Amino acid sequence: DKGCVGFVGLGNMGAHMARNLIKKGHSLVVFDLSESACNSLKEAGAKIASSPAAVAESSQKIVTMLPSSPHVKAVYCGPGGIYSKFQKGTLLMDSSTIDPAVSQEMAEKAEELGGVMVDSPVSGGILAARDALLTFMVGGTESGFAESKKILDLMGKNVIHCGPSGTGQAAKICNNMLLAISMIGTSEAMNLGIKLGLDAKMLASILNVSSGRCWSSEMYNPVPGVKEGVPSSNNYKGGFGTALMLKDLGLAQNAAGATQSPTPLGGMALNLYRIMCNNGFSEMDFSSVYKFLQKRESS
Ligand code: NAD
Repeated sequence: DKGCVGFVGLGNMGAHMARNLIKKGHSLVVFDLSESACNSLKEAGAKIASSPAAVAESSQKIVTMLPSSPHVKAVYCGPGGIYSKFQKGTLLMDSSTIDPAVSQEMAEKAEELGGVMVDSPVSGGILAARDALLTFMVGGTESGFAESKKILDLMGKNVIHCGPSGTGQAAKICNNMLLAISMIGTSEAMNLGIKLGLDAKMLASILNVSSGRCWSSEMYNPVPGVKEGVPSSNNYKGGFGTALMLKDLGLAQNAAGATQSPTPLGGMALNLYRIMCNNGFSEMDFSSVYKFLQKRESS
């Protein structure tokens, strides 16, 4: 046994990441609000804790993978939170995508309590989470980065130190703004091509050896049946929820406002994803923008 690791947040991403830590020899103590999420990890060999505080009592290395800033604040600072039973010397890795200012606030608190925290948001999606191929963008001290890398390496193939606390989130926000724009662009192009009579698989295979190629066209094509194993081929279930993408675009627009950076397409992407969320798409994978465009056209 390589030692006990705590894990809070066993959703689409966290469940895979936690499983990889078990596979690579760690014992795990986990918590999620969802009982079924906990039970599926229990079957994989994890111990279930009754709260984030209980996780903090039994481990000095903790990974969290939660939806957004309020969830992270609740899990760390709330009643029954990690900081209520924090052990000195604990290393915290928050891989949720949240507001960089909240990451900094949480890291300051960890330091006050004699621990260290890094922000370590990820890119790659559910398949990369399953196959331990994630990219981790890490914000924190040199020593915090070095310590966290030993754990993060077990769940990803790229672990990159971006700078001080909060900079992992900054990098992640930029990536996801670009991802949203490229997913919308891919969906528009695929939809147009199909309306012009092109076969979807054939069109994708052309894009993927041409200058329009991107991760959205190649690894996560939004048209059902073009690529196996991605959410579009599973009714847009699982994957990366549209509501979560909307959250990330909001973080990007806040950051753009604060730094007076023009992000015209980022702003449009935010509005499109907001309209989708108001029309029943919020729980579907963000590649469902293809389905949304189709729906508009036929109505
Ligand atoms: P998810 O909604 O599938 O999972 C979140 C989990 O957190 C759920 O199981 C939920 O029950 C749990 N949770 C919420 N509040 C909690 C609390 N107070 N205590 C304990 N557990 C709690 O989300 P996800 O898709 O796994 O994404 C997690 C984070 O990773 C998000 O910030 C997202 O933006 C980011 N992300 C997701 C993807 C992706 O492809 N899904 C890719 C990169 C980054």
